[in-house]
Amino acid sequence: MDMKDCVFCNIINGDIPCKKVYEDEFLLALLDINPFMPGHTLIIPKEHTLDYDTIDEDILVKIVKLAKKLSPNIVDAMNADGYTLVQNNGNVQEVKHFHLHIIPKYNNKPDISVDEAYKKITEC
Ligand code: AMP
Repeated sequence: MDMKDCVFCNIINGDIPCKKVYEDEFLLALLDINPFMPGHTLIIPKEHTLDYDTIDEDILVKIVKLAKKLSPNIVDAMNADGYTLVQNNGNVQEVKHFHLHIIPKYNNKPDISVDEAYKKITEC
């Protein structure tokens, strides 16, 4: 796959805008454009990598550590009741650049937009 066709590579290089939650040398976390639940966040490695089978183990550890740090903050900011981590591979993976989903879960799902969720998450 040509990296110029990869939506997440284009987000990383700034050609496609995103709602950035976190960034460092290796990783970017952003709000999902089509959230399953308000506050749905994706952690992606900056270096293009397909999936769980191919990802560098050191980068995977960084992603897992970041999920451990961000998830409780997202739950707090969104006043969620919990969260689910999901990572798809193979035919069920829509975007062919590794990403870990952090999906807040709610007893009563709030009816709020990605913009409103972004404000809550970035203000805390
Ligand atoms: P998966 O099925 O695990 O590959 O999920 C891909 C996820 O990427 C979906 O939840 C999409 O809504 C999300 N997504 C696709 N394009 C974008 C984008 N430009 N910005 C943020 N999230 C996106």
